[in-house]
Parts: sequence; structure tokens; C-alpha cells
Amino acid sequence: MAEKKTLIVKCPRCKKEVVYSKENPFRPFCSEKCRLVDLGQWFEEDYSIAVDDFFSMGNINEKE
Ligand SMILES: [Zn+2]
Repeated sequence: MAEKKTLIVKCPRCKKEVVYSKENPFRPFCSEKCRLVDLGQWFEEDYSIAVDDFFSMGNINEKE
């Protein structure tokens, strides 16, 4: 199992070609910056959706 394959992917943010390997901790992104920007957007979206669901699904049980 010594076969080494170099997988090249395009950074989802800036479309720059990057090596998808263990040596690239930011894969599939080209850099930490791109990774953080992308994650940040995801979290923001997730968060607003989650909050919306939370309120619309009647998850609030007020204790009396
Ligand atoms: Zn990038």
C-alpha cells in the first residue's frame, strides 16, 4: 500500500488548485483564510436556520 496519489482539488472559495493530502491541513481549501471564511458562512447560515426552527417548532417549554 505504498502507492501515492496526488489529488488536486480546487479551493471552493478562490478556485485555486490545491493538493488534497494530509500535508494540507486546510484541504479542500488552499489556506486557512479560505477555510475560515467558508466555515464562517456555513455557521452563520446554520445558526439562523436553527434558531428559526427552534422557535417555529414549539421547542420552548416554559417552566411554571
Ligand atoms: Zn482558496
